[in-house]
Amino acid sequence: MIHAQNISKVYDLKDHKVTALQDVSFELNAASTLAIQGPSGAGKSTLLGIIGGLDAPSSGIIKILGQNVHDSSEKEEALFRNSFLGYLFQFHHLLSDLTIIENVSLPLWIGKVDPQESKQRTLELLDSLGIADLAGRYPAELSGGEQQRAALARAVIHKPKLILADEPTGSLDEKNAQVVFEMLLNLQKELEATLVIVTHRKDYMTQMQHQLVLEKGRVKSFD
Ligand code: ADP
Repeated sequence: MIHAQNISKVYDLKDHKVTALQDVSFELNAASTLAIQGPSGAGKSTLLGIIGGLDAPSSGIIKILGQNVHDSSEKEEALFRNSFLGYLFQFHHLLSDLTIIENVSLPLWIGKVDPQESKQRTLELLDSLGIADLAGRYPAELSGGEQQRAALARAVIHKPKLILADEPTGSLDEKNAQVVFEMLLNLQKELEATLVIVTHRKDYMTQMQHQLVLEKGRVKSFD
């Protein structure tokens, strides 16, 4: 599913270079789960961004489902992201001018799914996450936990084969964090998707099949 070989990332700043990742290699099978751990500044978010095609590595190869994401044209890359990938961030990043149902169905709209079918699928998913009655509201009219559930819905509405989550419950209180994490795990199983999560939480890490520990941009351990 994910094949990463000698991934390095160097940020070229005005007066110096920052090495965010150095020679990171690992393999991950389809439908498996991985926690990326390590202290702040270890390169976790950079690695997740490279896996998701948001950022390009300075050197090395990353293949998702056999495809070299960073070798394709921008348009192909965008299509790839929209069909195979769901991204969940610490903050919801919902578009404030769109209602919840519009936000969540965006990936289907981009994927040219029939509007009736799109509406039905979105409402079913919102219902399974307990927020169907909020479909017509705007993001600012939802609580933090509800916003993150909507962001989760948007990340999985197109049934991605790879879900990337960067501290997905980091902005929530404990009760909502547990709810959103459980929902994320259930969706991963249901979709048989690969899940890669950046988290500091021990209780989340232990529920993932694999752990990749980064230290100063290098792989400290992978199991
Ligand atoms: P983590 O997610 O583990 O906290 P990051 O991947 O955010 O770590 O950052 C890794 C290193 O790369 C840090 O030293 C950080 O300051 C640096 N870095 C991240 N993004 C940029 C950027 N856009 N420009 C310059 N340096 C960056």
